[in-house]
Amino acid sequence: MDFDWTAEQLSFRATVRRFLAENLPPDWETRADGPASEMQSEFAEVFCGKLAQAGLLVPHWPARWGGRDADAWTAFILAEEMWMAGEPRGGQYMNVNWIGPTLMLFGSEAQQQRYIPPMAQGKTIWCQGFSEPEAGSDLASLRTRADRHDEVYRINGQKIWTSYAGYADTCFLLARTSPGKGGISIFLLPMDTKGITVRQIPSVIGEGDIHEVFFDDVEVPASAMLGAEGQAWEIVRTSLSLERVGIPRFAMATRMLTRAVTTLKKAGRFGAGAVEQAARAKAACEAARLYSYNIIDQRVRGVTASPEASAARVATVMAERAVGEFVVEHLPDALAGGDTMLLAHHQRAIVAGIASGAAEIQLNLVATELLKLPREPR
Ligand SMILES: Cc1cc2nc3c(=O)[nH]c(=O)nc-3n(C[C@H](O)[C@H](O)[C@H](O)COP(=O)(O)OP(=O)(O)OC[C@H]3O[C@@H](n4cnc5c(N)ncnc54)[C@H](O)[C@@H]3O)c2cc1C
Repeated sequence: MDFDWTAEQLSFRATVRRFLAENLPPDWETRADGPASEMQSEFAEVFCGKLAQAGLLVPHWPARWGGRDADAWTAFILAEEMWMAGEPRGGQYMNVNWIGPTLMLFGSEAQQQRYIPPMAQGKTIWCQGFSEPEAGSDLASLRTRADRHDEVYRINGQKIWTSYAGYADTCFLLARTSPGKGGISIFLLPMDTKGITVRQIPSVIGEGDIHEVFFDDVEVPASAMLGAEGQAWEIVRTSLSLERVGIPRFAMATRMLTRAVTTLKKAGRFGAGAVEQAARAKAACEAARLYSYNIIDQRVRGVTASPEASAARVATVMAERAVGEFVVEHLPDALAGGDTMLLAHHQRAIVAGIASGAAEIQLNLVATELLKLPREPR
């Protein structure tokens, strides 16, 4: 395959790098207070506002919504550079990648007018209310209920592992409106609605990332529903296919690998065993990059949902883990506080295969949809 970046793509990447060099504080790389900590969330809000002003927050969105109709490659180059820099957009990457585009596809005119402009200006944080204590991989079994009473729905139940819930303005919430898989609906729920309680869960990846969210007779107008009653499955399938390759974590893993190797070389500790393992980790990062590029190429050609997206996500998880394992093996002192950046990456690598959905579920899809392997008889 003859693959190279166009002059325009190279120039766009250079523009993003310049912007990052000018707008990230000098101590950015050594901040280790977690991707969703108060400090980083506040920073992200200012940073995303500046990105928006520079035309670099949502270039791939339609002009009508503040973008310039750039293609999926542009969005991915931008995401690679952001992840390589430690994802300074914080939780707003979700708005850019999938919440905004999902609202463009399925939102009413009033919902679009209310929610999309603040996203395009970098002024709002959303959270994703999918997982529940008994419904993670098996989302169809979720139990949070939304019961209709005339013109309102009354919501009762609990979500868990909700990232950014402590700062979010709005929740993209899945709730049950009737029994069965077809009985799940989506609500765009302002987080300051009466009856919502958010509790932080302490976690390995730092302060402020994951939460429990409780709903106690929370009332929302029927107009807060996204799409039709029971349409959640169709909408979420579309959203998740946008999300699956939207996060080029391999870019961050590659940078961390380079950082670890540089440290080892300086210390005269980059011996044969380390070289071999570093090469394997680098190969895993490159595999993830190429798998992801394949999906972006498909998107540009109009293929929106493909089982290869699952392979790309698994490859990315493997890359993060390979780099994490390399650091554990050869630079344990970095994880003991010697290098806050490597430590932060390692912590993220631990949860890589579970946040955004368990990697094993993606492996199932690779087996059945991509490799067409037979299912074991029940
Ligand atoms: C850091 C972090 C952030 C998160 N942020 C959010 C968020 O913002 N919003 C949100 O809604 N959720 C969020 N989650 C939750 C995440 O989506 C779930 O943890 C994930 O979907 C797995 O669900 P579970 O935890 O219930 O585990 P389970 O589904 O119970 O899975 C447990 C184990 O069983 C395996 N397993 C389960 N079913 C199968 C199967 N069919 N085949 C093979 N293996 C299987 C899984 O791979 C896993 O190893 C986050 C999680 C983490 C760790």
